[in-house]
Amino acid sequence: MVVVRGATTIACDEQEEIKRAVKELLDQISSCNGLNKDEFVSIVFSSTSDIHSYYPAKAAREAGYQSCSLFSATEPDIVGGLKLCIRVMVFLEKNILPRHIYLRGAKVLRRDLSSVYDVAIDGPAGSGKSTVARRLAEDLGILHLDTGAMYRACALKVLDCGVDVNDERAVVDILRSATLDVKYENGVQRTFVDGEDVSERIREPHVSMAASSVSKHPSVRIHMAEKQREIALKMSCVLDGRDIGTFVLPDADFKFFLTASPEVRAKRRYDELVAKGHKIDFEALKAEIVARDEQDMGRAVAPLKCAEDAILIDTSNLTIDEVVAAVKSKMQEQI
Ligand code: C5P
Repeated sequence: MVVVRGATTIACDEQEEIKRAVKELLDQISSCNGLNKDEFVSIVFSSTSDIHSYYPAKAAREAGYQSCSLFSATEPDIVGGLKLCIRVMVFLEKNILPRHIYLRGAKVLRRDLSSVYDVAIDGPAGSGKSTVARRLAEDLGILHLDTGAMYRACALKVLDCGVDVNDERAVVDILRSATLDVKYENGVQRTFVDGEDVSERIREPHVSMAASSVSKHPSVRIHMAEKQREIALKMSCVLDGRDIGTFVLPDADFKFFLTASPEVRAKRRYDELVAKGHKIDFEALKAEIVARDEQDMGRAVAPLKCAEDAILIDTSNLTIDEVVAAVKSKMQEQI
């Protein structure tokens, strides 16, 4: 018998909210594990003692989980434990490697006691996510994984090979045959392709749009997401990207989405590139950023978007210190 676990939190102890949350949790368990409702043998719910308005088991029956046995229990109070939380164990007679589902901040009973945790920071170019992620990881003493660097490294290799970035098969062939590594020197990520340190070259302006183009290919994304998950499961990380909270780690312990106006984002990139000695036309850079956002938001697989349970922070009028402080204080509230 295989067991899939899951949990979610609810906004308030109300019948409709419990029904919505139970349906969402079970439907995600089904879709992420490739299950049909009739493959559920039994479902066992437990909920925190502040939930009284409705039995999760009844909500499951109403959500169409008809052919399995159902059971609900109330958990004893745990000091410092999550509030308004519904947990579930789904028993299956199907031999799969289970994918456990944790929604709306319900990863573990006591986040402060869990040894591995991940922070997802997503957002468009120039929203400040990489700088914030690096600072946060430094302060927390955990790893920073800049996932954009991985797509940039792939794009650079594709450009070096003279291959069309829009040719999915050719791009993925290159990706599979290349050795892509991220290593850390004094806590700073360095990116290597086939042993060559490309950390500086991947930041060149022409690589940005190419990175966005290679990243729209589903097979490229699946390959990258697997590598990112491998790292994040082994050790605590702050991951920054476009799809961390929605696709790579939908059950990340903490999720943030940073944004800022296109004007502000273009100005940040402009200052960064000019400081590195590049000659840049501001309007062209702004147009490129807007085009990249559109391509990133419009792709079919794992587009750039704010996860439903992510905390949105508009960084337009905030300094990096202020954003880092806001992120930390939100994390503190959730522990
Ligand atoms: O964040 P950065 O600007 O370095 O990312 C470069 C490009 O890589 C983005 O425009 C996006 O298309 C792609 N990317 C992605 N998913 C991520 C990180 C980056 O698609 N998780």
